[in-house]
Amino acid sequence: MDVTASPLSPRRKTRQIAVGSVKVGGDAPISVQSMTTTKTADVEGTLQQIYALAAEGADIVRCTCNEVAAAEGLAQIVPRSPVPIVADIHFHVEMALAALEAGVQGLRLNPGNLRKPEEIKLVAAEARDRGVPIRIGVNAGSLHPDIYERFGGATPEALVESARLELAYFDEVDFHDVKISVKASSVATMIAAYRLASETFDHPLHLGVTEAGPLPGGLLKGTAGIATLLAEGIGDTLRYSLTADPVEEARAGRTLLEVLGLRERKGLDLIACPSCGRAEVDVIKIANEAQEALQALNLPIQVAVMGCVVNGPGEARHADLGIAAGKKRGHLFIKGQIVRVVKEDEMVEALVDEARKIVAEGVEARLAARDHSAEAEAEADRAMLLDDQGADVNHASERIEKIRRRAEG
Ligand code: SF4
Repeated sequence: MDVTASPLSPRRKTRQIAVGSVKVGGDAPISVQSMTTTKTADVEGTLQQIYALAAEGADIVRCTCNEVAAAEGLAQIVPRSPVPIVADIHFHVEMALAALEAGVQGLRLNPGNLRKPEEIKLVAAEARDRGVPIRIGVNAGSLHPDIYERFGGATPEALVESARLELAYFDEVDFHDVKISVKASSVATMIAAYRLASETFDHPLHLGVTEAGPLPGGLLKGTAGIATLLAEGIGDTLRYSLTADPVEEARAGRTLLEVLGLRERKGLDLIACPSCGRAEVDVIKIANEAQEALQALNLPIQVAVMGCVVNGPGEARHADLGIAAGKKRGHLFIKGQIVRVVKEDEMVEALVDEARKIVAEGVEARLAARDHSAEAEAEADRAMLLDDQGADVNHASERIEKIRRRAEG
């Protein structure tokens, strides 16, 4: 997949910065971020979580640096982390300086609670000398009180103004390695704020809906905000803020970029029909079983579970692999071509087996190895089903006939 040839709006040009080994902005791939929930002083626990996040697709991980023990933890975590580490700083300038001393690859400062210009400039100058970028992380919930008052609330304009003022302090010390976020828990406010930020700054933008909450609502809020902006070409890096295991954040971020065609698919993409009166099996149960079995294997493959053989293989012909149910049997298909007919209770097993083989041998090889009698068997099942159910399973023609008779009086 050519991720640079997306049919979405062209990505807005931003300057590029580097968070350790990960480039952000410009033509760099949009990166996924998440944040650990462990105490940063718990070095092994935090590293374990960082590895889990990286395995799910996080490119950059943020850890809080709220006390000296956390900074000491960072000094041990950073050299062992598989991804760059950003220290999250609130209130305490000395924690920002300690995190830089610990070797972090990025800082996040909240202009709402780190307010003294001299302190902000001190951190920026130190970051400049060390070549470490800073995110200006404006948050509607902790906006600087003066700005809140001036704008009459945490409006999109107020959020952008907060970032602009912080940037001005950075400019004074000639520090420019900056990315910006203007997060709000209101999706509408967040979208408007990022649109304005995108017109105002050429710095990379870090997208997020803050305090989005638990699943599934948090996921929907995050997706509504982040996906809208990405589709408009706005955003260089993102984080879902979920009240859940942070692995869900990394997974959501990666999946969103994959489904928008902005990132190469690394894992499973399971599609399934919604089921209807034609379904020959419990589609929800089979789809869940298939998802569980295939997700554990983490194969980069698109797999379809379809409830009936009448429409299934055709509707999912773009999938690498799929199974459709019919007459107590499953029709296994690759790119819409039937390759095997299996017993109903072997559908999931057959799907998993074939998925492994496709990833190992490739689609062409597996098509060549197909059971040549499968297509004829499948055709017979399809014909039998159509015969049993009729082409009009919802009895629409019967109803139309009655409507016409009534209309004729
Ligand atoms: S694939 Fe078959 S069962 Fe599934 S929604 Fe389509 S017609 Fe209905």
